[in-house]
Amino acid sequence: MKKMLDVIVPVYNEEACISETIQRLFNLRNLLIDELDVNFIFVNDGSKDKSLDILKNFASKYPFVKVIGFSRNFGHQMAVTAGLDYSKGDYVAIIDADLQDPPELIKDMYYQAKDGGYDVVYGKRLKRKSETFFKKFTAFAFYRLLDFMCQINIPTDTGDFRLITREVVEAVKSMPEKHRFIRGMVPWVGFKSAPLYYNRDERFAGETKYPLSKMLKLAFDGIFSFSVKPLKFITDIGIALMIMALVAFGAGVIFRCTISIISSVILFVGSLQMIALGIIGEYVGRIFEESKNRPLYIVKDKINL
Ligand code: UDP
Ligand code: MG
Repeated sequence: MKKMLDVIVPVYNEEACISETIQRLFNLRNLLIDELDVNFIFVNDGSKDKSLDILKNFASKYPFVKVIGFSRNFGHQMAVTAGLDYSKGDYVAIIDADLQDPPELIKDMYYQAKDGGYDVVYGKRLKRKSETFFKKFTAFAFYRLLDFMCQINIPTDTGDFRLITREVVEAVKSMPEKHRFIRGMVPWVGFKSAPLYYNRDERFAGETKYPLSKMLKLAFDGIFSFSVKPLKFITDIGIALMIMALVAFGAGVIFRCTISIISSVILFVGSLQMIALGIIGEYVGRIFEESKNRPLYIVKDKINL
């Protein structure tokens, strides 16, 4: 019996890419045909364009093309989550729909996992072709900040492009959290992991589906769902300010401090208090979201599943 590989592809308004992506994924399937039974799970994340129609068309011809359709846009991380929930394969790969990550590399990931006995092989980006300076810089800074903040080791310059074994899928599925940062959840569950270095291509067509607002949400989820360090910083800053205040008080007594210095200090402390409240708010908000106990996503269409 051949082992099974499921390839999960989150799709949001990718009508310009999706047919080409499917062709490339079919190539991958042919490359692996002697070794693995390959299925594709496309998760349409509430696309407003023709993505779903194109997917349905392929699904009607090929039973190994499976489609999950959300009732609205729930976000990239939820789309990947749904793919994991519906997957049955011994191995599961995750890849974006825009061909920035070459599908053929999944074959290399599979052999690396099989021959090296790895449960996770993650794609680590060397070069990012033709992405804006802003995107590259913010990504670079974010992954370093995350590394500094988190107790667990989340690999830097690594997205969700990876291959994992069934055991890892089940472990990740056992994490019900609402704010999902899958590239952090996989390292959190542990297991034997290795990187596969690759150069990230250009998006095949269309625009990025990650505007700044979505990028920030993902970055916040990465930090606030994986670290309580920001809370500790508040205490550290509080202690530092108290020492400064004591020194300023002493200096004021000795030198008769002017009113403007005092008011600027009050302003400064006030703004820090707002930031501190904001940080606490991030965690309180998360407790609220978790306590509502809503489902992570709503499925509207299911084809070949
Ligand atoms: N995506 C999604 N839902 C969203 C945004 C993006 O499913 O709300 C998908 C998108 O179709 C793509 C992947 O997530 O397959 C990554 O998005 P994109 O390539 O636009 O992000 P970038 O590479 O620019 O960071
Ligand atoms: Mg992309």
